Amino acid sequence: MKNIIIIGSGIGGLVAGNLLAKKGHKVTIFEAHSMPGGYIAGFYRKGYYFESGTVSFEASASVFEAMKDIGVFEKIGFVKKRLRLVSEDFDGTPENYDGYKKLVYAAFPDDKEKLDAAFSDMDKIVSVLENSNKPLPFLYSGLKMLKSMFPYILNAPKLMKLSKLYGNMTSSEFAGRYFEKDSKLFRLFSGFGYPDMSIFMVGGSLAGLFTDLWTVKDGMQSWADILAENFRNFGGELRLNSYVDRIITKNGAAVGVTCKNTVYNADYVISASDYKKTLQKLLDDKSLIPQTLMDNIDRAPVSEGYFTVYLGLNISNEELGKHMKVPQVLAINTKPGFSIYNSEDSEFFSKASVEIYSSSMVNPKLSPEGKSSLMLQTKVPYHWMNNWGGEDKEAYRQLKEKAMDAMIDSASRLIPGLKECIEYKDAATPLTYERFTHNTDGASCSWSWNPKKKFYKGIMSVNIETPVKNLYIGSCWAMQFGGVPGALWAAYQCANKIK
Ligand SMILES: Cc1cc2nc3c(=O)[nH]c(=O)nc-3n(C[C@H](O)[C@H](O)[C@H](O)COP(=O)(O)OP(=O)(O)OC[C@H]3O[C@@H](n4cnc5c(N)ncnc54)[C@H](O)[C@@H]3O)c2cc1C
Repeated sequence: MKNIIIIGSGIGGLVAGNLLAKKGHKVTIFEAHSMPGGYIAGFYRKGYYFESGTVSFEASASVFEAMKDIGVFEKIGFVKKRLRLVSEDFDGTPENYDGYKKLVYAAFPDDKEKLDAAFSDMDKIVSVLENSNKPLPFLYSGLKMLKSMFPYILNAPKLMKLSKLYGNMTSSEFAGRYFEKDSKLFRLFSGFGYPDMSIFMVGGSLAGLFTDLWTVKDGMQSWADILAENFRNFGGELRLNSYVDRIITKNGAAVGVTCKNTVYNADYVISASDYKKTLQKLLDDKSLIPQTLMDNIDRAPVSEGYFTVYLGLNISNEELGKHMKVPQVLAINTKPGFSIYNSEDSEFFSKASVEIYSSSMVNPKLSPEGKSSLMLQTKVPYHWMNNWGGEDKEAYRQLKEKAMDAMIDSASRLIPGLKECIEYKDAATPLTYERFTHNTDGASCSWSWNPKKKFYKGIMSVNIETPVKNLYIGSCWAMQFGGVPGALWAAYQCANKIK
């Protein structure tokens, strides 16, 4: 039996904790916040439930396999979602990638030839990734891992060819091949997902976004709570309100942590939290990290953070549903004149696309009777407006208010009269996310999704090892492009490593 400490109780820490405790190890999870979940946490305000940030996940084959493995699948109410896309030019809820294509073709009949060319290349990526709907081999080790690779081995030559062709191509580079810069179609193709993300990953998203988009009926927090309870039932200890301020090493190996001036010894430490902070802040002996790696960590940009508006509405879910049609809507802005790279644009939020989500439309129990909840989200330029007012509290409040109002105005185009039915409102900035999860700059999905700014060599590798013996990364930061499945794969790799 090994003594294992896990830093963080996001999905990564909770899954690693369950797997290791189930194997009979002594596992303690230290969580800085007062509740488990990290980015899959949620909270109630005035009777309304809100997801703190993450409203969905994809790659369900891996997620469900893991939950079955841990023994909690039946307890979690996973719900499949449909995504409605609305722009100046189209409005539809595609059933699959082909449905999405139809929507775009119908909106831009004059651009058929250009669309044919772009989609013929996109089809190649989507068709290979669409077929890979089995749990990824990262969940397994040994013979099981080899077996799980079979479905992928058949596709491997195609996958490798495509990843070579498109893995390092950004969405703007791809869009620029077919469409005039700043045209609506250029902005549609380049504006998908994270800014300038790998077009290979765009293909991956399009392969799953319409057919494999999931949430949890009782809210994401219920998922974290079920995993936490299960972990405790396996004998694990979850310490909430317990910020780890140091990882202790001896002879180049992690041997424990300190929390609230107390030393806790361990055979292994798994950091299921931010990579940069783990090695640059928490590690007691920085000389264990080669200088080149330290420089790379310094330089490597993180994924963009989110601005989220939380609204409690005094209208029923039925009333809200008349406008929303489905619980999740992406209101896309393809007009030129704004850029996520412009941190000085004070009007950014009135121009950005808005992701709109209502958890109470998924489950009416998540709002007071006869009322409904709504979240408005968008990715934010790094350090917008001097990092939200440069530590001036009043400037921060005003910027937050301005951004909130702009987002509400944008959403009002879909939900007329929205402003008049707001009973509760608040918002989270990337600074809020960093305060609650300790992710650098409120990074929403580990490192940058721009393949030109990669930290890891492979875009699909899971990198749990650190230069420090017995210190592993068990969070989404083990992958270039994080996310719920990424955190889970990292957790599995950590659990497989510790015998
Ligand atoms: C707005 C938003 C939308 C998203 N949408 C999606 C999506 O659609 N699909 C998808 O797959 N992913 C999505 N993600 C990303 C996904 O939620 C995350 O990648 C994933 O949940 C991260 O899990 P994790 O366990 O790696 O880390 P986290 O969830 O970040 O958890 C880390 C935990 O560690 C704790 N911690 C940190 N430092 C310490 C310390 N020193 N001591 C003690 N505790 C510490 C934190 O408090 C936190 O609870 C989204 C994220 C955001 C913000």
